[in-house]
Amino acid sequence: MKIIYIAHSGFLLDTGNAYFLFDYYKGMLPAIDKDKPLVVFVSHKHQDHFTPQIFSLADTHPNTLFILAKGVPYKHLALKFSRQMAMHGLDKIFPLKRDISETVTLSNRKELVIKTLRSTDDGVAFLLFYEGKRYYHAGDLNLWILNSNTESENKNMEKRFLTEMEKLKNMDIDIAFVPLDPRLGDNAYCGLETFLLYTNCHCVFPMHCWGQYSIIDVFLNKHPEYVNIVKKISFENQTIVV
Ligand SMILES: [Zn+2]
Repeated sequence: MKIIYIAHSGFLLDTGNAYFLFDYYKGMLPAIDKDKPLVVFVSHKHQDHFTPQIFSLADTHPNTLFILAKGVPYKHLALKFSRQMAMHGLDKIFPLKRDISETVTLSNRKELVIKTLRSTDDGVAFLLFYEGKRYYHAGDLNLWILNSNTESENKNMEKRFLTEMEKLKNMDIDIAFVPLDPRLGDNAYCGLETFLLYTNCHCVFPMHCWGQYSIIDVFLNKHPEYVNIVKKISFENQTIVV
């Protein structure tokens, strides 16, 4: 399995017979094999997670599906950015609400099961079941504890975050992508810490680091017990094989 870090929360996961592209909005997309299915995920509409340019992938890559959180604008954008969809319609696009489960069949005839969690920011997190493996992309589902918030706002945030983590409790997850945002200062670590405590995750890629990858070293210095689980990203287009 190969993971290519593109930028911010954007990753391309190559499972071997399919590609999953998450929250791509900038950076260089790696060359991809046109014969393999491509599934493009958008966790929410914020500009650091979504660009309508993704819809043009339907033209260059015929076996593409789009899994969008409900609220991500797509109708006129897909028609504008994709000639293929302008001609043949929007049946490759699946807008998903939070807390639902949807099964799609890829062009290789294999089934992908998608479950959505409710983000504590906007949109959803994705939990994927594919060929006996589980993948998780958090989007902006994180424990956003801000010193500028009141105590009760932060308590409420924690409650909402733990409600979602309960849904993942003790779950084996093969690969996860989870925010580690340096803007939160001393509060940056608790979201990823909680995720690791709740789940049995084998491999985590920190994301949403705003280019400050040294925060991953700080996390691992605090938590050497996770050194084999939390992967170090240090530059865009870095490829990691797991
Ligand atoms: Zn974001």
